[in-house]
Order: sequence, then structure tokens, then C-alpha cells
Amino acid sequence: MSVGPTPAPLLDVKGVTLQYKTTEHLVTATYRVDFQVFKSDRYVLLGPSGCGKSTLLKAVGGYLQPTEGEIRLKGAKVSKSGPDRMMVFQEFDQLLPWKSVRDNVMFPLLASGKLKGRAAADKAMQYIDKVNLTKFADHFPHMLSGGMKQRVAIARGMAMEPDVLLMDEPYAALDALTRRKMQDELLQLWDDTHFTVLFVTHSIPEAIKVGSRILLLSPHPGQVKAELASVPRDADAEATKALETRIHDMLFADQIEEQEAKHV
Ligand code: ADP
Ligand code: MG
Repeated sequence: MSVGPTPAPLLDVKGVTLQYKTTEHLVTATYRVDFQVFKSDRYVLLGPSGCGKSTLLKAVGGYLQPTEGEIRLKGAKVSKSGPDRMMVFQEFDQLLPWKSVRDNVMFPLLASGKLKGRAAADKAMQYIDKVNLTKFADHFPHMLSGGMKQRVAIARGMAMEPDVLLMDEPYAALDALTRRKMQDELLQLWDDTHFTVLFVTHSIPEAIKVGSRILLLSPHPGQVKAELASVPRDADAEATKALETRIHDMLFADQIEEQEAKHV
């Protein structure tokens, strides 16, 4: 059987060390992290708080330069932010409060020069519709719930049709029910457009549900523990639970060993 050439990754993160210099300290947030994201992956960065997930996402966004290693998007080295990478944050206040839903979604389309006038409005409405907010297009952010604001932020990011959508714990501040609903919606959107997403979470169940592939990071500094495929979307509860347990044990193996050593 002949094996074709391996497709080139869309996003290639190679040996990336990221540091913050404060007046007193040099904080190493991630150490020599490697991973590759391919087109239409739902790629999840999973690890405990402080393991450098947001820092990695910021570096992919081009807001932070690696002190070691490099990040390539479609083969080109990432050196600054760009409309080919749109970010969705956890915070509900990421929208412009004085602009309507429609104007918020249109804003990057116009500001980047990607589209003008009518075409920008049409594109914005197309994505507002995809996140089920058509009726709210003329509403302002303060009139919306947290979940609805997150939908607007997702529509705004997706309307730019970036190479990769970067999502930093976008549902972490939502109640459990809304959170599950938003996860389902994201998967429906993916079924519709097969966008590529790099999704950050500290929740194991969320990683399994949203992700097609999951990168496990250990803390202080963030290093790659393992990369795993998630279970298929139609997996039963037992298979999902088994993967949850496996990931939990891998993420917390060091602590478990430490605790066991203390008890010997
Ligand atoms: P996560 O998103 O996984 O919770 P972060 O990427 O926010 O983790 O942080 C990784 C590490 O970098 C933490 O130790 C954090 O305290 C540190 N850190 C994050 N932002 C800054 C900053 N602006 N200045 C100094 N240290 C920072
Ligand atoms: Mg974070």
C-alpha cells in the first residue's frame, strides 16, 4: 500500500518556550511545547489553571513572542496578530458596549478592510443567524445574557472566516446548563462549516466533548504530557467516562504519586 505525503499542518507550534519578565522575576509559562493543528481540527489545550494555556493562545494570536522555538501558520512564521487568527475570550465584556450586535460583528470586517458596506452587513447577519441571534441584531450588549454575549463574540470571530478560531475558556463563566448548550451549538456550527478551532479549557469533560484532539499540559512551566484523540461524537457514557478517568490520572499522576509516597 502506498502512503501519500503527510499533509502540512495549518498551525505548527515547535519547541515554544514563553516567558514573562516582571520587575522581580522571570516567569516561564511554557517550556518547549510542541503541537500541530490540521485543518478542521477541534484542537483542545487542557491543563490546570496556571499551566500556560492562555499564554500559548496569546502567542498563537501573535500577541507574545516565544523566547525559544517558533509558531508557524500555513508555513509562515507568526510575528504579529492578524485577521487570520480571531480570538474569543471568557469575559462577557469583550464586545463594544456602544455598538449593536450587528455592528459588533461587522466591526472587524470593516476595520480590517475585508468587506465594505452592504457586503459586511450581509456577512455579519449570516453569522449572527448561525448563532441564533437574528432577532437580537439591533440589541446592545447590556441587553443580552452572558451566553448571548458569548454567541456574539463567536459570530464576530467566525464572520472573519479566520484560518483558526482561538477560544480561551469561552464558556467558563456560564452556568452549567448554558455551558452545555453552547458546547452543542459550537459542534453544530462545526458540522456546518468545519472551521478550525484551538480551544482552551481546564475542564476534562468539556475537552472531551468539544475536542477532536486534546493536548494535555502539566503546570509550572506548562509542558506537553500527552496528545490524545477524543472519543467519537456518538460515544456512549461508558467510553466517555473511561477517557475522563484516563486523562484525570495522566494530568494528576505526579500529585497522586507524591501523595502515595507520603503514605508509604
Ligand atoms: P492558564 O491560562 O493555563 O491558567 P496562564 O497562561 O494565564 O495560565 O499563565 C501561565 C503562567 O504565567 C502563570 O504562572 C501565570 O501566573 C503567569 N503569567 C500569566 N500572565 C502573566 C503576566 N502578564 N505577567 C507575569 N506572569 C504571568
Ligand atoms: Mg487562562
